[in-house]
Amino acid sequence: MFKYLAGAALIALAIPHTPEASMQNPLLPRWTGPYGGVPPFDRIRLEHIQPALEAAMTEQLAEIDAIANDPAAPTFENTLAALERGGRTLDRVINVYGIYSSTLSTPEFQEIERVMEPKLAALQDQIVQNPKLFARIAAVYEKREASGLTAEQKRLAWSQYTEFARAGARLDAPAKARLSEINQRLATLFTDFSQNVLADETDYVLVLETPADLAGLPESEIEAASAAAAERGHKGKWAILNTRSSMEPFLTYSDRRDLREKVWRTYYSRGDNGDKKDNNKVIAEILKLRGERAKLLGYPMHPHWRLENAMAKTPERAMELMEAVWKPAVGRVREEVADMQAVADKEKAGVRIEPWDYRYYSEKVRKAKYDLDQNEVKPYLQLEKLREGMFWVAGELFDLHFTPIENVPVYHPDVHVWEVKDGAGKQVGLWYFDPYARPGKRSGAWMNSYRRQERFDGEITTIVSNNSNFVKGKPGEAVLISWDDAETLFHEFGHAIHGLSSNVTYPSLSGTDVARDYVEFPSQLLEHWLDTPEVLSRFARHYKTGEPLPAALLEKIKRAKTFNEGFKSVEYLASALVDMKIHLAEARSIDPRAFEREMLAALGMPKEIVMRHRLPQFNHLFADDGYSAAYYSYLWSDTLTADAFEAFTEAGGPYDKVVAKRLRDHVFSVGNTIDPADGYRAFRGRDATIGALMRKRGFAPDGR
Ligand SMILES: [Zn+2]
Repeated sequence: MFKYLAGAALIALAIPHTPEASMQNPLLPRWTGPYGGVPPFDRIRLEHIQPALEAAMTEQLAEIDAIANDPAAPTFENTLAALERGGRTLDRVINVYGIYSSTLSTPEFQEIERVMEPKLAALQDQIVQNPKLFARIAAVYEKREASGLTAEQKRLAWSQYTEFARAGARLDAPAKARLSEINQRLATLFTDFSQNVLADETDYVLVLETPADLAGLPESEIEAASAAAAERGHKGKWAILNTRSSMEPFLTYSDRRDLREKVWRTYYSRGDNGDKKDNNKVIAEILKLRGERAKLLGYPMHPHWRLENAMAKTPERAMELMEAVWKPAVGRVREEVADMQAVADKEKAGVRIEPWDYRYYSEKVRKAKYDLDQNEVKPYLQLEKLREGMFWVAGELFDLHFTPIENVPVYHPDVHVWEVKDGAGKQVGLWYFDPYARPGKRSGAWMNSYRRQERFDGEITTIVSNNSNFVKGKPGEAVLISWDDAETLFHEFGHAIHGLSSNVTYPSLSGTDVARDYVEFPSQLLEHWLDTPEVLSRFARHYKTGEPLPAALLEKIKRAKTFNEGFKSVEYLASALVDMKIHLAEARSIDPRAFEREMLAALGMPKEIVMRHRLPQFNHLFADDGYSAAYYSYLWSDTLTADAFEAFTEAGGPYDKVVAKRLRDHVFSVGNTIDPADGYRAFRGRDATIGALMRKRGFAPDGR
């Protein structure tokens, strides 16, 4: 991906600005302060964003013009290196804009987004469609073998050339104009989609009035719900938010089947309520435009275009992998449902398992079958201790060391910052951590890159962040998180480590900017270190007594490792299969609601489970092009992950120094400077096979 397209979200604005105004705008100058400069969050105000974006866009176009119109013959230095050097102001501004979009969204900011997203899409097209610029890139690309370039420079030439071509650089003028129209309209639709989902997450709050409504909930959930209610003006009551972190524990523990159904319906109806925030029409138009765009660019369908430079290469190969896992996963769901029904029958509950019962009864089965109670585990899972555990793992495997710092500004008092050094004491980067849910922050967890590693014009300090939506407890009290949330914490930290370990020359090839079905590999891999005895014995400590997780409990966790894997695989795979199939469907006029229903029926979706992300709330697909026709990437990456972790277990175990070094050298540090398949082979000595994945999930015939 070339640099201008790298921001997760992009935008533009209409207020004219004077030179004086831009001098005062803290978003425009190079970042100052320690660590080679940090984002000036203490000085940034909402009103700075739009003028800064506009000024930065103008500056970037001028830079592009200068490169395109250079009278000298095209060389790597005056074309590709010049492009790498350019666009810095816009990079900085867009990073802050992206932070507002994902974590500080307000109605006022959303207005800015609505104006700027199509303008930023137009800017990208203006750059990609500049014929003089593309002719220069093509000239450097064609002479790349004969011009004495390094391997990384050749890779950059290939990457820029193909990305420009794939974005329409070779089209004729009318086709370019239509493409640009499509991209601008899509930018607006993506904004509408994500703002609608965010509104449904923020606006629907279930306020529980009496203690009877809390039946079955553990103390920690009750306290979090009480704090959430107080924050929203319902002191003395309890609020269940319409986010995954609130929904999941409620469905797991609430004895109140009526309330479970209510919470379930509200959550899975996001974007699908037939009101003005309904996303079905938005999706239909996005699909139609993506279909048209793919054809315009010379591909049969959107997935063919999307997967061309992914590891999978074709939709067929991605489908093949998904289908190989689907059947055993559904088979496992049948067993899980039978186990749950037996528990319900024994309790004389008089119910047939419905989707809002799945988490609740599976928890009871977990207790019965494995004598494992998640509530027994949770007191040992303190957010802050687990964070220290992640740091410890980073030290062991990657020789990265974290120290808290106070001398850089943050955008919210809950955000904290750590300095990262390597074993020799050399400064590597900064890690910002924004752990808690709040209004205006999108749900889920993610990693952000504020400044990518490069050493093109000298060393810089890499800046990355991790963001999640833990429910903040009372001041001074430990925040306890679930096992799943602990895995997510390690997952996102894996992305951060991937960014921090980067050791390349050019920013466009740096860090996590790798093929979509490869980027989840480093992050999923890191999840494996959570349940190593080294981490659990040191960092899973009881929040009151400080006692480590008892060995017997750890043993139970291990035995129950593939428990509920049917549910997890099926809710994910249903989403991934529907994603690919809806993008492979002829998109004349799709009714997403009907398509989803029919496709799930055709797949044989167990009626007790719903897609992890239903289409009207599937931000991965419709908040940007992001994971569209690429949600399979998590499974693809997990195939690599499972296979890679076996490299450790086959050697000296999870902390084997030799394997860890190979992992750093060939995977975490190389960014997109090499083909990921080559990097994997260099690490593992061979290609990945599906066997390890099936063993990991307990789907191998003998592997349970
Ligand atoms: Zn991830």
